Amino acid sequence: MNPDPDYSAAYLRVDLGVQGRGVQGRGVQDHGVQEQGVQRQGDHPAAPDGDLPSGHAFVFTIGRGNDIQLAAVASVAERLIGRPVRAVLDDLGGLWRELVHDSQLRWLGPEKGVMQMAIGAVVNAMWDLKAKLAGKPLWLLLSEMPSEALVDLVDFRYLTDVLTPEQALSRLRRWEDSRGERIEALRRNGYPAYTTTPGWLGYSDEKLARLCAEAVQQGFAQIKLKVGGNVADDRRRMAIAREVVGTEIRIATDANQRWETAEAIEWVRQLAEFDPVWIEEPTNPDDLLAHAEIARGVAPIRVATGEHMANRVMFKQFLQAGALQVAQIDATRVAGVNENLAMLLLAAQFDVPVCPHAGGVGLCEAVQHLSMFDYVAVSGTVDGRVIEYVDHLHEHFVTPVELRQGNYVAPLAPGAGTEMLPASLERYRWSGRG
Ligand SMILES: [Mg+2]
Repeated sequence: MNPDPDYSAAYLRVDLGVQGRGVQGRGVQDHGVQEQGVQRQGDHPAAPDGDLPSGHAFVFTIGRGNDIQLAAVASVAERLIGRPVRAVLDDLGGLWRELVHDSQLRWLGPEKGVMQMAIGAVVNAMWDLKAKLAGKPLWLLLSEMPSEALVDLVDFRYLTDVLTPEQALSRLRRWEDSRGERIEALRRNGYPAYTTTPGWLGYSDEKLARLCAEAVQQGFAQIKLKVGGNVADDRRRMAIAREVVGTEIRIATDANQRWETAEAIEWVRQLAEFDPVWIEEPTNPDDLLAHAEIARGVAPIRVATGEHMANRVMFKQFLQAGALQVAQIDATRVAGVNENLAMLLLAAQFDVPVCPHAGGVGLCEAVQHLSMFDYVAVSGTVDGRVIEYVDHLHEHFVTPVELRQGNYVAPLAPGAGTEMLPASLERYRWSGRG
């Protein structure tokens, strides 16, 4: 159980305007919104005043983490102020490279943590804006881009030992002619989800059993249980869950970084009889070699990780080392859509399924677009792939996710799904004085 359940986010809104109107950024915490002024000039002379969409994005963190995250977002967002918006939106690959290779801020990483996530907020806000101006949901906007344009979005620096631009292009071209079929399939069927709702630590056995039964009734083909508190408790909870859901429904497990290497292997082996589909974050998320050892030690149970994966270079190494068998990208952990596109291409190169992390604030809304695009243009399949679903805080979003029979319904509204309702922004704003 998370002892600090103050879910919140650093929030960025990019406004367009003629000279004299502003670009604004501000921070939001659910259960608290933080205000951070970045107010300068925008430029969009072609569109009428007042009818311009805004680009919205956020970085999911909690509590005081937002103060630091917001300062970083403001510092990165400054770079956009006053620029002609079309030129920026027409070259988001160029923007990504410019922001990530900014030497003054790069010193703070490179390419990890607060600064990388801040770049992600700015990049994602621009993608939201681009999708709204195109009148399309982000997944569809990406899915209709030429393969060459998609390759241009990715910075292949440090990746070419396993993935070159030419290899990425040929992978994308493989699926190009049949993209329309998968776009239609998404509109018809949506994308498979799994639910973490039944599995939080701290629930009574009765509540666990009830929520497992409800998940099955709702059409989910996979659930997830948090583990790692006490092995006897975990064995009992897994037995209850398996008994309730039967053998057809998959049960994933998530240790949230609790274990040492040997402990992880021993613990997971004690859960093996309940047939877990994966063990997630068994140990420190940076410990590549430990993950590889755990993966060897618990096979055929697969190791899943990625929600704390700092960047595409770490991701590459995990894949090279056989340290993960399920890739859990996160919409706000890395530097935005572009870096996640690199990670989708890398995962496909290693034939590893992508099952995104979600939950928190707005992560379901954001990451569904990446999985749907992955299906249409990169992996070409939903086999063995599921997007995490957690059933809280959706009511604060302009276009909340919709689930139908255990599937995410493909969103049709223009944008990246990252815009919060004005009333929620106002109500939960954190001023720092509270
Ligand atoms: Mg997790």
